[in-house]
Amino acid sequence: MPPKTGFVTLCGAGPGDADLLTLGALKAIQSAEALLYDALVSDDILALAPARCVKIGVGKRGDRLSIAQDKTNALMVRLARRGLHVVRLKGGDPSVFGRVEEERDHLDRHRIEHRTIAGVTAASAAAAQFEFPLTHRGEARSVTFLTGRTRDGSVDLDAGAVSNAEASLVFYMSSHTAAHIEAALLAAGRGAATPVVLVENAGRATARAVKGRLVDLAALTAAQAWQGPVLIGVGAAFARARIDEAQIGEMRRA
Ligand code: SAH
Repeated sequence: MPPKTGFVTLCGAGPGDADLLTLGALKAIQSAEALLYDALVSDDILALAPARCVKIGVGKRGDRLSIAQDKTNALMVRLARRGLHVVRLKGGDPSVFGRVEEERDHLDRHRIEHRTIAGVTAASAAAAQFEFPLTHRGEARSVTFLTGRTRDGSVDLDAGAVSNAEASLVFYMSSHTAAHIEAALLAAGRGAATPVVLVENAGRATARAVKGRLVDLAALTAAQAWQGPVLIGVGAAFARARIDEAQIGEMRRA
């Protein structure tokens, strides 16, 4: 008898509450027989999976304990070979800093069928929640998603790509490298007064945001006790973020 082969759905969970799931993601989760989920996937989303579904956390959160990528890859294959519908649930959009291509390659190598479902990326959720545009006519003509962290831990920003005053930059996985980002962007020619915004827990009820200037980015980042994931926006459009006073007061007290 040929071995049973299951199916893997590489699925974006959005950055926060279940409200930001797509209908396609919801259907995939509801039909999951095994769920492999990232640490950033919220509990209310996990609760949507059937009670009988095997749920395994494989999540990475900064320096916290996590399962190595090759173990996650192997687990997907093992579960799919049992004939299960495996849902690999990833924070935000799988195609943005989600290592989805490594997982697809691995599945292809092992001849496991798969499909990918898009998710709302954290930058989009932050922009909607705090009411700032990522692009804005005459002010922000492009938006670039970057990371301040590379595989070997160094920060290497291409000055040509970040120097344009009309470019919005959104940094993922970068709260620990804010000082380097500030220095690199100033060196690349971005003005000291360029607006910046930091958004934690975008898309969740616990979200908070703080605004400032590029020259204060490192100090602003260091002044907060961040607990959740944080995005950094740099560019003129971010000055438009609507952050209510109550929230700012709360942050000052924190
Ligand atoms: N694929 C994800 C990004 C994964 S990289 C997406 O599309 O959103 C992980 C980084 O994403 C975090 O370090 C943080 O910078 C950002 N991030 C993820 N969820 C977030 C959230 N709810 N609020 C703010 N930033 C978030």
